Amino acid sequence: MTMTTHDLAGFVAQANEAVQQEEQRLNAADAKLGDGDTGSMLRRVLAAMAKVDVAGAAGLSEAAMALAQAAMKETGSSLGTLVATAAMTFAKEAKAAGNRIEADDMGRVVSAMCDAVASRGRAATGDKTVIDSLDAIARALSAGPATLAGAERAARDALDAFRALPCKVGRARMFPEKSTGADDPGMLAIALLLAQGPRAEA
Ligand SMILES: [Mg+2]
Repeated sequence: MTMTTHDLAGFVAQANEAVQQEEQRLNAADAKLGDGDTGSMLRRVLAAMAKVDVAGAAGLSEAAMALAQAAMKETGSSLGTLVATAAMTFAKEAKAAGNRIEADDMGRVVSAMCDAVASRGRAATGDKTVIDSLDAIARALSAGPATLAGAERAARDALDAFRALPCKVGRARMFPEKSTGADDPGMLAIALLLAQGPRAEA
């Protein structure tokens, strides 16, 4: 099934709703390693993205570029910049595909988003960052079936797999005893924001 601007609008609206409920949990995860603002920052960025007329855009590429611009305008933070980078990469991929993205294309598209975020964030797979979540999602979508539920499962599995490992980049790398056994806040955010259905109490 070809993705529509309505599908993209629905995805943004759902993530925006999720972050409003998970803000404090994400801040708490970040407070263990950093300044405790991951939830509040993502809430601001997603609120700005939710205001974009995504469904009314001329095509997927135009919609994603407007989302990237809204994210960039709202944040000066590193994670917000990565959200914008991911949206911009989606826009480029959609444009190259003539604005026709099928479910089976999503593995390749998320893989491109992962590469762009890795390059922008100067981190690699294995560092315990959002890159490990995006890499896991890209592989799961490529293996199929390419569904949102599959992406959510991959994000959760990556979170579980990396919990016991130390973070290898940023400020957190200097305190391996703090990051070992703790969720990376960015990885947690991806898992929570992709979650479908009723939200469990934290
Ligand atoms: Mg922070």
